[in-house]
Amino acid sequence: MSLEEYKKKRKFNKTPEPKGEIKKKKKNLFVVQKHNASNLHYDFRIELNGVLKSWAVPKGPSLNPSQRRLAVETEDHPIDYAEFEGVIPEDEYGGGYVIVWDLGTFKNITKKDDKEISLNQAYDDGHITILLNGTRLKGEFALIKTKREDQWLLIKKGDSEANRDINIIEEYQDSVLSNKTIDDLKKAKKGNLDKFL
Ligand code: MN
Repeated sequence: MSLEEYKKKRKFNKTPEPKGEIKKKKKNLFVVQKHNASNLHYDFRIELNGVLKSWAVPKGPSLNPSQRRLAVETEDHPIDYAEFEGVIPEDEYGGGYVIVWDLGTFKNITKKDDKEISLNQAYDDGHITILLNGTRLKGEFALIKTKREDQWLLIKKGDSEANRDINIIEEYQDSVLSNKTIDDLKKAKKGNLDKFL
């Protein structure tokens, strides 16, 4: 685990994103950030070994177990990133708008041959099962690595929190922290963002 790639990609005198560091204190955080960059996507991140393992999910998470969402693994992010929302300047890496769409904690419940295994092993195996306790995402989710480099699938497991009738990303457009939407940020960009957030 390392934040070298994260740091290499960003100019911290240009972007408001946190520089961050590896944090030893374990909180088992997960976060989903709605990121309107060149393409709108949702960044799904879970804490592991002092960083946030990160996947970009183009279609966003689903509560419907039959909808397997492509999740492309990206560089590890600092734990402090979990509460980041704001405007990344257009010409910078990931330029666009970020809001915290969901934030909470998770529990690793991955099993192999009926035995519980560590999150590190689950990640290395490319088969992670976690129990999410967020504001919007709850219950069991799986992250399964495919044969294609960096490509995983994010899948809701069939439990009492599964729901085939609701489109969760349409249902909730705003931030769980500030209640701002991406559109609010776009408007604020023209004014004083510091005051606005
Ligand atoms: Mn992103």
